[in-house]
This record gives sequence, C-alpha cells and structure tokens, in this order.
Amino acid sequence: MAKDYYGILGVKRDSTADEIKRAYRRLAREFHPDINPDPSAHEKFKEINAAYEVLSDPRKREMVDLGGDPLAPNGGGAGGPAGGAFVGFQDIMDAFFGTQSARGPRPRVRPGADAILRLDLDLHETAFGVEAPIQVDTAVICTTCQGAGTAAGTHPQTCEICQGRGEVQSVQRTFLGQVVSARPCSACQGFGTTIPHPCATCGGDGRVRTRRSLTVKIPSGVEDGMRIRLAQQGEVGPGGGPPGDLYVEIHERPHDVYSRKDDDLHCRVTVPMTAAALGTRLTIKTLDGEETVDVKAGTQPTSTLRIRGKGVPHLRGAGRGDLYVHLDVRTPTRLEPEQERLLREFARSRGEEVAELSKQGGFFSRMRDAFNGHA
Ligand code: ZN
Repeated sequence: MAKDYYGILGVKRDSTADEIKRAYRRLAREFHPDINPDPSAHEKFKEINAAYEVLSDPRKREMVDLGGDPLAPNGGGAGGPAGGAFVGFQDIMDAFFGTQSARGPRPRVRPGADAILRLDLDLHETAFGVEAPIQVDTAVICTTCQGAGTAAGTHPQTCEICQGRGEVQSVQRTFLGQVVSARPCSACQGFGTTIPHPCATCGGDGRVRTRRSLTVKIPSGVEDGMRIRLAQQGEVGPGGGPPGDLYVEIHERPHDVYSRKDDDLHCRVTVPMTAAALGTRLTIKTLDGEETVDVKAGTQPTSTLRIRGKGVPHLRGAGRGDLYVHLDVRTPTRLEPEQERLLREFARSRGEEVAELSKQGGFFSRMRDAFNGHA
C-alpha cells in the first residue's frame, strides 16, 4: 500500500508547498538524530525526509494524489512485467535499506521517463540564441480514456487470481525446509487489477506515442553538448502517469571559417609576404558583420590579431569572448623573372644574398656541411 506521506508530515492533502515546508522543518528539528536521543528518532527522521522528498516535488506529489507511491521499489521506471526481477529488485532494496515494506500491488500509474533530443545548430544560433522548432516523439496521455486505460463506461476489476494483492505465494520444499516465496501475479502483472475492456486507442496503457511540434528557446552563448531542460515534456508514464522531462542536447555544426574554443573564436587568414612586411589592412567577416584590422608592417609568420568582444556572448553574465585572427604569411612559390630580379636586388640591399639553388655545390652542400658540423 502507498505510504500516507501527508499523515507523516501531519499536513492536509490540500496543503500549499509552503505549509508542507514548514511542517517538514518543524518535524526535522524535532526528530533529527543529533538532537533527539530516542532510538526511534532516526527511523522517524528518515520517514519525514522521505515524505518531504515526495510532497515537495510536484510530479511525485501528483502521483501520490493519484494513489501511487513514487518511492515504492517498483513505482518508477519504464519496466513492464518483470517476472523474477520484480522480486529480485525488492530483495536488493531490502538488503540495502533494511525495509520490510509491504509489497502489495504495484500502481498502474507511474511517472514517465525523461526523453532526450539532439538539436543541431549553427554557430550563429548558439552564439546569439534562437527559438528553434523541434519535433518530439514521446508517449502522451491517451485522450480517449484520459490515461485510465479502460474502455468508456468500464472499470478495472480486482484480479481473481491474486485477489488484488498483486503477488502470489508459492511454497517450495528444499533442503532448508519449506521456503515461501512471492512473485508478481502473472494474471494481472502485479497490478492487483485487470482491465477486462481495454481502451481501443491505447490498448490499456493509458498513453499513446505521438509526434509533437514544440519551440525551444535557446539562450545566447550555449555550447556544444549542453542540455536544455523542458520540464514535463518527456514521456508520459504508464497509466497516464506524470511526464518526465525533455532534454534538448545542443550540437553545434562546425563552421567553415571559425573554430570555437569556449567563447573565443579563431580563424586563419593568409597574407602575402609583402603585405606582412609592408603592413596592410584586412577586412574580416565577424559574427556581427565586417571589421577592418591593421596588419602592422613587419608582421611575423604565425602572428595573431585579437579583436576584442567579437567572440561568442557569455552564457552567464555580460560580455563576449574575443575573435583571434591567425595570420599565415605566404611566401610566393613561383616568381616571374622580373620579380626574381627585384627580390634578389632587395636581398642584396639588405646584405642577405643567397646562392642560386641551381648551382651544384652551392647552397645545399653548404647547408649539409653545416648540419654535419664540417662547415
Ligand atoms: Zn486509452
């Protein structure tokens, strides 16, 4: 049987969240094992905490009001009739918590599972936020029977095999003597009731799978892998139980220009050797539009320019990351004869003459000698 959580806290069934909290605090102070030396206080304290855990959570409280027990070992999850696992799980719970809770029938109404959905977004959308339309495939409450699972005008009936207990006992003679074991009633799957006339729409499950269209508001500055929680948009539970939450997991599509590191953006721009030497002005496309940046004369290969505040807005707090422009200084690979002549002249004027590569025993042999230490 479901525990009387309202009774444990001494509150009325229509109490407000605030009244429940006050009652819990008063009792917790009274029965806290550090304060109350009575040996039974510890047990009572655990009970109070469990009751508060249930009644302070709107979803769990809703289950209690529907006659369920969210803390019952088989009260949650999406498992179906579990056969031996049903008993096994109960035994594990007993071993861990030392409870000898009444087994009884398991509730038909159970909370639904959370659902997760992947949402692919462009950098611009993760940076500045977006209202994204999504399609969600989950179980929703059956509108034909409103979750009851029964055909119109019919009701569940007490199971004739277990008389509503939800379990059947069997006695086995073993070398230890007689062993009485209980297992879920197979006639009613442990519910204690059967549905002789199930709802034709949902087959008695109280829920149906359907596709819904929702809009999820993505805040600016989200990152790849983050999850947005949409409360109670997950799976409706068996018997029309309260829905779980929907998590929308964000996946940022790779951008063809920028790579993102936290809230900073990085891009590479190739500039000719001459521009690096003489200085130039670049027009960079940022997330916000075009921006001109100066490349100083004498810029070295692998230099980086930083454009402050042109990265991704911070998710928490004000401000934005920066945009880093990594410069690749390109050396010309093919020179016209006239260009080569000018470059040689330039080298000579700086005292940087180089041997012509085509000559045998020129530059290459000197370099080899240098590496071998014979120079
Ligand atoms: Zn139905």
